[in-house]
Amino acid sequence: MREGLLEIFHEEHRQLRPGVAPPELKIEFFAFANVNNTIRLREGRLLVRLSDLLEGAPEGVVRAIAHILLAKMYRRPIEREHASRYRRYVSSHDISQKAHLVRQIRGRKRIQSPRGHTYDLEKVFDELNTRFFYGLLARPQMTWSRGHARNSLGHYDPAHNAIVVSRVFDHPAVPRCAIEYIVYHEMLHLKHPVKLRGNRRCVHSAAFQAEERLFPGLENAKQFLKRL
Ligand SMILES: [Zn+2]
Repeated sequence: MREGLLEIFHEEHRQLRPGVAPPELKIEFFAFANVNNTIRLREGRLLVRLSDLLEGAPEGVVRAIAHILLAKMYRRPIEREHASRYRRYVSSHDISQKAHLVRQIRGRKRIQSPRGHTYDLEKVFDELNTRFFYGLLARPQMTWSRGHARNSLGHYDPAHNAIVVSRVFDHPAVPRCAIEYIVYHEMLHLKHPVKLRGNRRCVHSAAFQAEERLFPGLENAKQFLKRL
């Protein structure tokens, strides 16, 4: 993720409230379906959620968003320059948003059945959901990859809200714990969205890793996958 995101928010805070120390800030990216950004104050901390469609936005745009969100928070007037900068970006971004939508629709057609020859990914998901997540996770699309690529065991694709598992593992020689481990890992990605710690994107946070260690077949599964 972009460098200096926190600094930008701090600078804009200083502009709006000179001499006032900014509160602790937490910035997260979310896969909002449209360009959507929110800010709220909770227990003295500012929580900022930015649409992941803005992840590649130029610095001036991020500065504009920071200004707009903070101005809203503190009920200050929004500077016209920032407002128009942001508006210009969002409207030009409409084009790529549409492209994004088209990809989703096309992508959806490509999604294949969760039922493989050996394993049914939806069943695996539902069972893990009951065993480890109190049934609380909403099931995304579950699908086997089209190819037999081994370089990726599985991944969670937020654009399509899909968990994709490599078709290599749809085989009777693959123990159930290996499939379960792959799906469990991707379910943790659903539960722990990518966070920003300082300027770093934190994909496998400490909480993520701690929860991964709770998986009972972890060592067996890892060993099997290593041998492949
Ligand atoms: Zn991962």
